[in-house]
Amino acid sequence: MGLNVVMMGPPGAGKGTQAARFARQRGVPKISTGDMLRDGIRDGNSVALEAKALMDMGQLVDDRTMIAIVQERLSRSDTAHGFVLDGFPRTVSQAEALDRLVASHGNGPLVIVNVTVPEDELVRRLATRRICESCGTTADPVVPGAAGCPVCGGTLVQRIDDDARVVLERLRVYEESTRPVLEYYRSRPAFRAVNGAQSPECVAQELESVIEQASAVPASFGRSQSRESE
Ligand code: AMP
Repeated sequence: MGLNVVMMGPPGAGKGTQAARFARQRGVPKISTGDMLRDGIRDGNSVALEAKALMDMGQLVDDRTMIAIVQERLSRSDTAHGFVLDGFPRTVSQAEALDRLVASHGNGPLVIVNVTVPEDELVRRLATRRICESCGTTADPVVPGAAGCPVCGGTLVQRIDDDARVVLERLRVYEESTRPVLEYYRSRPAFRAVNGAQSPECVAQELESVIEQASAVPASFGRSQSRESE
């Protein structure tokens, strides 16, 4: 059985950082649709370049495009033992498509983790975070006088969509389109919440423990079912 994790949460909740850390630890790929689009823009990919105007305005890219991108990514062999999704699904249609993809992928159910952070803290974090121009690593919060990207030494810049006005639009779009996805998932046994307003180390610990717990649910459910049928 694979470990298939979906990281939910508003922009600035720290889900990308936590997703990367958890995925590295478990040896499964972190699949960030935002990173894939930004990489595509850097590489001159036509689909990503078409999406750029919407991204810069804080709007969502259409479901068809995003589902196709994720479908292709999940079909690669490195997802055989699981994956950590960051930034997908962002609409109920995407969540429904993901259920279909996971069912056909056949390597286990989804564990959904919602990272919660108060809105004023999100705005503060997004105003200070920076991204590496060369490799796309997110470095937050910005350290005054920092030499550059901690991974490749590249120049750290502000994301166009972390501009104050665009941030407000992204939070509005989150409430309108992505919050309903939480309702779509909330009643599932493997839905968990994590308090994102703590140090990254504390969030990582809480994340590990809730994922451990949640991924045990279907397994123990299966065991008790089979004991009953014995
Ligand atoms: P992120 O890095 O996850 O904040 O994504 C940056 C931007 O990429 C978003 O504001 C959207 O414009 C676009 N994007 C990323 N993932 C999705 C998605 N699942 N659905 C629609 N648009 C997306």
